[in-house]
This record gives sequence, C-alpha cells and structure tokens, in this order.
Amino acid sequence: MATYSPYCKLKEVNSDSVRWTEGFWAEKFELCYKSIIPNMREAMNNPNNAAVFKNFYIAAGLEEGEHLGTFWSDGDCYKWLEAVAHVYSVTRDKELDCIMDQLIEVIGKAQDLDGYISTQIQLTDVKRWQDKRYHELYNMGHLMTAASVHYRVTGKDNFLKIAKKVGDYLYKTFKSRPSELAHFGFNPSNIMGSVDLYRVTGNIKYLELARIFVDMRGSAPGGSDQNQDRVPLRKENIAVGHAVTATYLYCGAADVYAETGEKDLFESLERIWRDVTTRKMYVTGGIGALHRGVSVRGDLIHEAFGFEYQLPNSTAYNETCANIGNAMWNWRMLKITGDAKYADVMELVLYNSMLSAVSIDGKRFFYTNPLRWYGKEHRLLSSDAYQRWSIFKCYCCPPQVARAIAWLHEWVYCLSEEGVWVNLYGGNVLETKLLDGTPIKLIQETRYPWDGHVKITVNEKTKCAILLRIPAWAEGAEIKVNGKPADVKVKAGTYVGIKREWSLGDVIELSLPMDVRLLEAHPKVEEARNQVAIMRGPIVYCLESVDLPNDIDITEIHIPHNIKLTPRYDENLLGGVTVLEGEAWRIPEEEWKNELYRRITASSAEPVRITLIPYYAWANRGISKMTVWMPLCYF
Ligand SMILES: [Zn+2]
Repeated sequence: MATYSPYCKLKEVNSDSVRWTEGFWAEKFELCYKSIIPNMREAMNNPNNAAVFKNFYIAAGLEEGEHLGTFWSDGDCYKWLEAVAHVYSVTRDKELDCIMDQLIEVIGKAQDLDGYISTQIQLTDVKRWQDKRYHELYNMGHLMTAASVHYRVTGKDNFLKIAKKVGDYLYKTFKSRPSELAHFGFNPSNIMGSVDLYRVTGNIKYLELARIFVDMRGSAPGGSDQNQDRVPLRKENIAVGHAVTATYLYCGAADVYAETGEKDLFESLERIWRDVTTRKMYVTGGIGALHRGVSVRGDLIHEAFGFEYQLPNSTAYNETCANIGNAMWNWRMLKITGDAKYADVMELVLYNSMLSAVSIDGKRFFYTNPLRWYGKEHRLLSSDAYQRWSIFKCYCCPPQVARAIAWLHEWVYCLSEEGVWVNLYGGNVLETKLLDGTPIKLIQETRYPWDGHVKITVNEKTKCAILLRIPAWAEGAEIKVNGKPADVKVKAGTYVGIKREWSLGDVIELSLPMDVRLLEAHPKVEEARNQVAIMRGPIVYCLESVDLPNDIDITEIHIPHNIKLTPRYDENLLGGVTVLEGEAWRIPEEEWKNELYRRITASSAEPVRITLIPYYAWANRGISKMTVWMPLCYF
C-alpha cells in the first residue's frame, strides 16, 4: 500500500517496489540485514544495555524482574522492530517474520486493557503522565509507526491492532487538551506515529490527534526552548533546543501538512529550515552543535542547536538521532515540494553524519558525531566515546541508524503525474506502476558515490518523464539518452525531466562531475575560519592520524589552496572506499615552544603526503585523532 498524501507533490512508491542490487547502498542494506539487526538484537537482550526487550516480557507477566534501562527503552525496541519490518519488505525472510511476531505477541500482552503501554511506568510505582521526561509519548509514538510499517509490509494486523488501541487511548486522553498535559510530548515521535496510523487505517481521529499534539506545543505558559515548547510552532522563526526533539516535531508537522495542507504550518517549517541550513548545520549535515548551552531566549538547553553560526568541531554534539531526524525531515519536505534542495540535505546526511554513527562491520555505534577528535587526549563530554560501542547508557541511536538504512530503498524514487523522480543514486531495480496505472521498470547501475556515472535502463514501453536529481554541487553534469546528449537544460540543484515515449532497453546516462572540492565556511563560523573541508561528490573527507606518520599530529597539517588530490579506490580499506591522496604542508608544533600566542613568524613548513578518508569511515582502526576542517595555507 502506498501513501498518497493529498498535499505531497511527490508520491511514495510501495515498500517492495525498489530493491538494491549492487554497490554502496546494496552493501549497507546487506550490512543492516546481516550484521546491524542481529547485533542489535543481541544488545537488546543484554540486561546491561539501555534498551531491553526484557521489559515487555516482565510487563506481560512472562518473566520476573524490575524495569531495566532508560525511560525510552520501549521506543528504541519499537524502532528496531520497524527496521526489521523494512528489511523484511525486501528480503521476505521468514525468520524475521517469526521474530517480529513473537515480540509483537509479548507487546500485546504487556499492553494495559485501555490501550496504554509504557513499561517504564507499568513496572514501577510511578503513575501515568507525571513527568514528560518519562517518554510515554515517545514510546507509544514509535509503536504506532513501527506497527504501521509492519502492517504495510506484511499485511498482518497483529501489531496494528495494538497500535489502534494505543491511538484510541491517546485520543481519549488528549482530545480535550487537559491543561496538566499541555507540556507533554517531550520527544514527539507521537506526531509522526499518529499520522502513520491515520495513513494505514484512514481513521481521521488519528490525524486530529497528530494535530492536537502539534497545537499543544508552546500553547501554555511554562514551556521552554529546550523542547520547542516556548513558542507555538506556527509562530517560530528559528531552530532552537534539543535537536532530536526538534526534528521529530518538524517531521510530525510536515506529516500533518501533507494531509491537511495548512499553509501556516508549512511556512513555519520553511523558515526554520532556512535557519538550520544557512546558520546551524555542519558540513556533514549534522545538527545540534551543543552538549549544553543557553537559547537566544535565555532557556537552559542541552543536546541542542547553538546560536547562529555557532558550530564548534571537537565539541560538536551532532547526535546520530538528530542527524537522521534532519534527513527524515528533508525527505518529507522533498515529497511535499519536489524541490531538489531538500534532497541535497537528505543525501548529505546519509553519506556523512548518519553513516559515521555505525562501524564498518555494523556492530558498534557512536552517539555524538564531532568533526574533530583528539584521540586519547580528547576531553569526553556527555555521550562522547573514544570508540564506537555495542551497548550503551542510551541506546536511541543504533535503531535510528538501522531503520534509516533499512528504509532507504523507499527514498530512491517518487512518483508524480509527470512520471518518475530519481532522488538517489545506487545500483537498484524499480518495478512499480505510474500514477495512471501503467507499469514501469527501471534498472539503475552505478558505482556512485565513488564514480559519477549512472546508467538507467528503461525496461518497459511507456510514455512519461523521468526526472533526474542533479545535486547542487554537480555543476557541469551531463545527460545522454541512448548515447546522444539529451535535449534538456541540465542545471545543478534541480530535477531535470526527460519526457518521451520510452522503448524497451532505452538507456539514460547521467555523468556527475566528481572533482575534489575545497570548501570554506561562512566567515561568521568562527571555528572554521581560514580552514577548508574537502568533498568529492556527496562524501565529506577527513584526515585521520592512522594515515599519518607517528610523529606528525593532525593539527600540524595545512592544506595548500591549490592542492592536487587524486582519488584512488581501495577495495580492501574500510569496506571499500575512495581515498584522496596529495601533498600538503606540515608546520611542526614544537616550533611553538609552548607559547599560546606569538608574533607571526615564517614557519619551517615541510611537504608531507596525506591520505584523506571518508568522514563516515573514521574510528574504525583503533583510537585515533581526526579532523574534517584543516587550516588553509597560501604557499
Ligand atoms: Zn540517539
């Protein structure tokens, strides 16, 4: 069942319409299926982890014990189930189906008769709805989403029945907007969850529920910027506060807009989007610069957006959940508008600040994603770690990564009256029906992101437009149809539509320029002043100490403005990556003789060979030092 939201210009394809076949995302999907998901299952069976399945068994009366882990453990378990359902949509692996059914049965038994379920409350003597930080809405929100996905991909309603009871219970509890619950919805997966439930059931009251949750934000005195609860969303101009709860709110509001078309809501999202992407986002697509800080309106905030242009590198928070939340939000904005600028941000996150969270072997995870790291000397702030971990005191990020990778095949294409939109590049096959019902099959072959050549073969006779996304960085991209330049204007940062009567075996070739790009930051980003970041295609690169001789520190490396960096694909390195090699300058730190400041002096720079690796692949070779931004030199 596809989701045809009335106010989305682009419609989603069915969950089983796209299959990765080869290359980058096919390998990541396989990693998710074979490593990430089973390893997470093991972690969630470990009583020392912050998210544990055991709580459901205890609440169901099947096991003895006390509640374990965090308040949001249930929600993270549901996110894992959602990831499994996405993988199942493609693999049809019977064992996964069985694993899901078993856990769903236990969840059903753990649910109270009136529909409420939150083991962190049920298994303690705390009463319901005492403190928003107890995450009841986060947990039940993720349940509704996971159950909706499960229903869409399996057609079975065992999980959906549980979700409907949750939705009915929440509707009953919140429809009169009781004042004592005005500030509930701390981490609002409940908005997305309610809309998801509406989409699979068609029951309008779940959409009304989602709207109530949006309306509640900032509606009563006593709110705070920490969780976007000081200012009503429709009046907000800036991205502020906890970056995960922010993106969940923006995603939920975008979902409500997609169904209702309420202009004020969309306009506020656009204003906030502009604030994020022009003032508060890292070059990796990561968001949430601060471990702790103060908002512009004076509220104490944590895990949060900083002030405008406040983007520190070594202390960047960039929680994995927030980065992925940013991609999810942009995916929604893309569907609403068909504007390629949203796909650019989405792709930036996917290749960089999402993938940096998971180890190359799929077994370990990062919570924070800083852009510079000082190895064993690094001062750890909240949730930082020297290396990725398998279990953790807060386990929200691993299932967020898992569900994003498992779900990504659904983001590759969209449909509109015009035809098929190609949002992402990677080896895959699309088999679906156009909105007018005619079948279409596309075969995409590419080594992207290592190579900019994409070949799409049309395997159906049909008349429609195929719209290719040209990333904003891809100035000079070229399109050919059956070997001849296509008669279209190819503009970077747009979708380019090729409309014709397609014959079986017609071939579209897209060439994206893969030259190495040196980036500078807006001058108001203090922490990146006079430094460069390096990108090739959608990949952000970094310098890791492992790739330097032992006696050279990452801070000693300076990048000449005219550096020649040569790409080289190394299939044996870090799961297969393209590295960039070239000659930079080293200015030895000893020269400074421990002075904090000195008069500008001619430095004894010496040439040094450097190898840059994709940022996402750092910290897979022991504890290391790493930097994305490097000082620029003009000699
Ligand atoms: Zn997280």
